[in-house]
Amino acid sequence: MASSHTVLMRLVASAYSIAQKAGAIVRRVIAEGDLGIVQKTSATDLQTKADRLVQVSICSSLSRKFPKLTIIGEEDLPSGEVDPELIEDGQWEEVLKQPCPSQYRTIKEEDLVVWVDPLDGTKEYTEGLLDNVTVLIGIAYEGKAIAGIINQPYYNYEAGPDALLGRTIWGVLGLGAFGFQLKEAPVGKHIITTTRSHSNKLVTDCISAMNPDDVLRVGGAGNKIIQLIEGKASAYVFASPGCKKWDTCAPEVILHAVGGKLTDIHGNALQYDKDVKHMNSAGVLATLRNYDYYASRVPESVKSALIP
Ligand code: AMP
Ligand code: MG
Ligand code: MG
Repeated sequence: MASSHTVLMRLVASAYSIAQKAGAIVRRVIAEGDLGIVQKTSATDLQTKADRLVQVSICSSLSRKFPKLTIIGEEDLPSGEVDPELIEDGQWEEVLKQPCPSQYRTIKEEDLVVWVDPLDGTKEYTEGLLDNVTVLIGIAYEGKAIAGIINQPYYNYEAGPDALLGRTIWGVLGLGAFGFQLKEAPVGKHIITTTRSHSNKLVTDCISAMNPDDVLRVGGAGNKIIQLIEGKASAYVFASPGCKKWDTCAPEVILHAVGGKLTDIHGNALQYDKDVKHMNSAGVLATLRNYDYYASRVPESVKSALIP
């Protein structure tokens, strides 16, 4: 029998369950004690066993259920049989209780592009900064990020043994974002969140020009967007290449679904078509409120160094 739910909502419901399984894999790899760290392009560009297993888990689980999707993930997929233990077949019923926004009701599977970051904040994961880590599944249609799922496997890990470990945040444009308490950053203060592992002179020049009251240096694009929606930071500023489309797709949706804005450092919207360049070459600027203040402060010297 054909499902009464739209393709988009079924995909989001499945991706929610798949992201939860991914979070469990991320925790299991730490518990087993062998991270299997590999250097990719540099000493700050790492991959662990968790990145590899979660990449397989998410991509295989999604493509079994939705074979016509275009899926673009950060890590290479090994050839050969997939361990059945890595496949998640569930769908989160709470998602299916929500209505699909009318503009997305006729979307077909083959029209969607899914951007997967199996583990965002790998450098911090290897250093034990566990709540910096997220799993990101972003969904794009006609080049625009429209739905996203963020699992934070170690949410609450310092809150004591009785606290529930891990959470999943999800959202769809035109519907809203769920799984967290929206809070604005202190009014009148400029609290900037930025990279801790990939800084350089452009990054610091741009932040200085914004007269920050405080600068939070933390790992992960997903983690920094969570700081914006939970009122811990007022702007995410990263004036450098390095961040990729799989880093920004899901976080951008969550932020946009609650009225925020994410662009490159010039103010251009990011594009998520399947053929787009993976690198966000012109950096990232994101806020929940007060975007124009931060955009107006980006120095011309920084802009001219970052070509989209
Ligand atoms: P960060 O804010 O440093 O945690 O970076 C956010 C995301 O962008 C992470 O997935 C990083 O791996 C990625 N990223 C940022 N800069 C670089 C870089 N220079 N080399 C590799 N990955 C980077
Ligand atoms: Mg990442
Ligand atoms: Mg990653």
